[in-house]
Amino acid sequence: MRILVVDDSRMARTALCQQLATMGYDAAWAPGGAEALARVQEEAFDVVLVDFKVADMDGVEVCWHLRAAQGAKHLYLMLMIPGSITNQFFEVVENGADEFLRKPLDWAWLRARLLAASRVVDMQRELERLATTDSLTGALNRGRFMARAAEEVMRARRYGRELSAMMLDIDFFKRINDTHGHAAGDEAIRMNVRTTRHLIRQCDVLGRLGGEEFAVLLPETALPGAVLLAERLRRSLAVTAVKAPDGPSFTFTVSIGVSTLHKGEDHIDPMLARADEALYRAKRGGRNRVLPEEPAAAG
Ligand code: GH3
Ligand code: MG
Ligand code: MG
Repeated sequence: MRILVVDDSRMARTALCQQLATMGYDAAWAPGGAEALARVQEEAFDVVLVDFKVADMDGVEVCWHLRAAQGAKHLYLMLMIPGSITNQFFEVVENGADEFLRKPLDWAWLRARLLAASRVVDMQRELERLATTDSLTGALNRGRFMARAAEEVMRARRYGRELSAMMLDIDFFKRINDTHGHAAGDEAIRMNVRTTRHLIRQCDVLGRLGGEEFAVLLPETALPGAVLLAERLRRSLAVTAVKAPDGPSFTFTVSIGVSTLHKGEDHIDPMLARADEALYRAKRGGRNRVLPEEPAAAG
């Protein structure tokens, strides 16, 4: 569990960070609200411990801003309030804190409250995983894939970078199900994801869009590079045997359509539609092949 301490007192935050490290937590700090906001947008934190007053804001305000900026991932916010304050508990929670701690901090109390927080954080993570990934393969589900796609398009636009996409569909998948059974079909889908993961980079985004249809986003990759990768993937899949439960091994092929983001495009849909169209041509052309988007549409 990663914790951010927001405190403008160097002595207080140093002591707190040391305690957190002793308790086995990975702790970082920010001196004020603005820095805290910037950090949570760039790095992954689970818990933020906010002092009642920091140089540039009230702690309650920091909580409010963090809550507004947290995005899809819930930040567990703990506000540290002076022992002299005895009547603003409700307001503190109402304004966004999940928990408050009295100052001076009692380390044993802090340790117990962090244990409670870690349960919420774990549950949150698990819910997030269930809501965003496909249970058969662990690939992103359609909803999460599209959200990540929107982010990647923004990034590519902002920094003037390349972005390409592959759309992949297993050939004659119905036949696999009919011949080897549904469980073998499932195993083929899993193997497809394992092999794809093995070939793509960490920053590439893999999503299961439907039954046996997948999409991969390739940041920093132009069309020729994406086609090369798709071709390598197609060949690799074609020679990898799937073992059907209680049945013989078999192989299958895939068709892949490849497209790239065009200048001026600020939405993922046209690029995915071009990959889809190329995939459709690959199917019509006989399957087991990779086709790029129409050159006429490129540029
Ligand atoms: P094509 O080469 O044209 O893609 O032929 P196809 O047989 O693959 O055609 P299509 O894409 O229409 O078939 C998809 C089939 O995939 C239909 C459905 O029964 C099956 N399917 C969808 N989801 C799953 C799944 O999670 N597991 C299994 N085993 N089968 C699935
Ligand atoms: Mg198919
Ligand atoms: Mg299909």
